[in-house]
Amino acid sequence: MMKCPRDGCGREAGDSGLCLLHDPSPAKDAASFQETLEREMARQEADPAVAAVDLRGMVAPGPLVWYRRVFPKAVDWGGARFLGEAHFFGAVFAQEARFAGAVFQAEASFWDAAFCGEADFSGAVFHGEAGFQIAAFQGEADFQGAEFRGPARFGEASFGGRADFAQAAFRGPVDFEGVAFQGEARFPPGLAPPVATSGGGRPAQAGWRGRLAAAWRRLRG
Ligand SMILES: [Zn+2]
Repeated sequence: MMKCPRDGCGREAGDSGLCLLHDPSPAKDAASFQETLEREMARQEADPAVAAVDLRGMVAPGPLVWYRRVFPKAVDWGGARFLGEAHFFGAVFAQEARFAGAVFQAEASFWDAAFCGEADFSGAVFHGEAGFQIAAFQGEADFQGAEFRGPARFGEASFGGRADFAQAAFRGPVDFEGVAFQGEARFPPGLAPPVATSGGGRPAQAGWRGRLAAAWRRLRG
């Protein structure tokens, strides 16, 4: 058996010389890819020797939908390419969520997602809409150098730690309406999003705590 040469992979390689997860061909079979991906995620999540689920550099040929999925471990999608839509709405990332340098070719939806550890989207490229509405970031949210080519929607998101958008490029509409920042927030010059405070129209603290509590209930249930 020929093994995939990608760093830390070692899965069986196909005709491309790479495994099904790393094969960059957009024409590869989406159903087989998804099945292989789900199996690989379950395997790494169950393996006590694996601290962070390693999906670096994978290439998803079609849409992925993980409605309210719980990611119990840190998960690393560094440098991954999502060629179809990527839906993580209501997902719970119990540990770090690493998307550094990931490329989303179509819509990326993290609507109502809960990031309980650090969320690293540094250098990520969003070609379609990036939806982070009412997402809850408990730890640091790192969007340094990220590029938003479509709409960047963060309406009513909560940032419990540092929110770093330094050197981020916003090329489409930007929505930070009603966002709650509880730590330092860094933005490119000229972009100063409105900040919700406890004295504003919306009880940011209560919403933040309520969502986290709900996320943890989902995680435990
Ligand atoms: Zn591989």
